[in-house]
Amino acid sequence: MNVPLLDLKVQYATIRDEVMAAIVPVMESQYFINGPEVKQLEAAVAKYSGCAEAIGVSSGTDALLASLMALGIGQSQPACRVGATCEGCDEVITTPFTFFATAGSIWRAGARPVFVDIEPKTFNIDPAGIEAAITEHTKAIIPVHLFGQVAEMEPILAIADKHGLSVIEDGAQAIGAVRNGKKAGAFGTTGCFSFFPSKNLGGCGDGGMVVTQDAELAQRLRWCRGHGGKDKYHNLFVGGNFRLDTLQAAALLVKLAHLDDWSAGRRANAARYNELFAGVAEVTTPTILEGNESIYNQYVLRVPRRDELQAHLKANGVSTAVYYPVGLHLQDCFQALGYEAGAFPVTERATQEVVALPVYPELADEQLVYVVETVKQFFA
Ligand SMILES: *Cc1c(COP(=O)(O)O)cnc(C)c1O
Repeated sequence: MNVPLLDLKVQYATIRDEVMAAIVPVMESQYFINGPEVKQLEAAVAKYSGCAEAIGVSSGTDALLASLMALGIGQSQPACRVGATCEGCDEVITTPFTFFATAGSIWRAGARPVFVDIEPKTFNIDPAGIEAAITEHTKAIIPVHLFGQVAEMEPILAIADKHGLSVIEDGAQAIGAVRNGKKAGAFGTTGCFSFFPSKNLGGCGDGGMVVTQDAELAQRLRWCRGHGGKDKYHNLFVGGNFRLDTLQAAALLVKLAHLDDWSAGRRANAARYNELFAGVAEVTTPTILEGNESIYNQYVLRVPRRDELQAHLKANGVSTAVYYPVGLHLQDCFQALGYEAGAFPVTERATQEVVALPVYPELADEQLVYVVETVKQFFA
C-alpha cells in the first residue's frame, strides 16, 4: 500500500467546482491586487479567529516579518545585519524547535533571535525558561503553536506584560486551534498565519495573514505591506511588498468554509492513531494539554531508532517527515549568535526522536491502520 504524507489532490477533487467558480470571476475582473476578495477574506479570518482586524500578506514568513517591522522591532539600528555581534541590538525570544522562518524573520528585521528551550511533552517553548533570557534589549516573544497546538500562553502573556514586551504568535500551523475557548492568534499583540499549501488552510501558492485586536497596529500593518506608504507616493516608514493576491484570497474564502471539517478529520485520525498505538512501549503519542484543541497540522510521534523506523516505513510505501532535524540555534547562518551543541538539550533530543505520520483528513482508515501495523512490525 502507498500512503503519502499529504495528498492535496484528493482534497481538491472534493472542492474543485467551488474553487474554480471563485477563481474565474477574478480572472474576468483582472483585479489581481487588493481586490474585493482580499477584504472579504480578511473579514472572514478576523471573525473566525476572534480578532478585530486581519491583514492579508504574502506568506506566513511575511506575516512575522511585517509584524516585527510594524512594531518597529529591529528598526532602531537599520544597518545591523549581524545579529549577534551587534551591541545593543533589539532581541526577540523564540524557540529553536520550529520552522526556519520564525527565527529568520527576526534576523531579517534586524533583531537578534534569542532562543529558549522547549517543553518536552508539547514541543512548544517552555515558559519557565523565558524570564532568564530577558535583557534590557528584549522587545518581543514569538511563541510558536507547533504542530497545531497553542503554546502555554498564560505565563507567556504574564511575563510579556510584566516586562512590557510584544507577543507575536507564530500560528502558521495553528489556524483554528483553541486554548481555553480562545483561538490561536487572539492571544498576542499579533497572530500570524500561513496559507502555504500544506497548512490546514492552504492556498494555491503562498499566502498569509496577520490578525490583531489593535486597530492602530492594523493600520501600520496595511501600510507595511505596501512599502510603508500611506498612499502610493508618501512613505511613512520602510515596509515591503507583502500583499496577498486576490486569486489566493478567492480560493481561500472557499476553503475557509471547510476548515473546521478538515481539522476535525485530522483530530479523528489522531484519536484513532492514539488508540491503535496504545500499548506499544516504544511509541510516545502526542500530548495535548488540558483546555487545548489541536488542529494537528502534524501528528508527531517520539520514537527510539527514528531514522531506521523512517526507512522501514519508506520501504513499505509510507511517507513520513522529520520536523525538525536541526535546532535553529545550530544552523550555519546563525553561527554568529554563538550557540553551541548542547545549549538546548530538550530540543536536541527532540530532533533525534520525532517523526510525523500522515494525518490529512482524507486519509482512509485502511491506510491509517496500515501505517500503525508497519510501525508495530518494526518494533516487534
Ligand atoms: C509554515 C511556517 C511558517 C512560514 O510560513 P510560509 O507561509 O511558508 O512563509 C512560519 N512558521 C512556522 C512554524 C511554519 O510552520
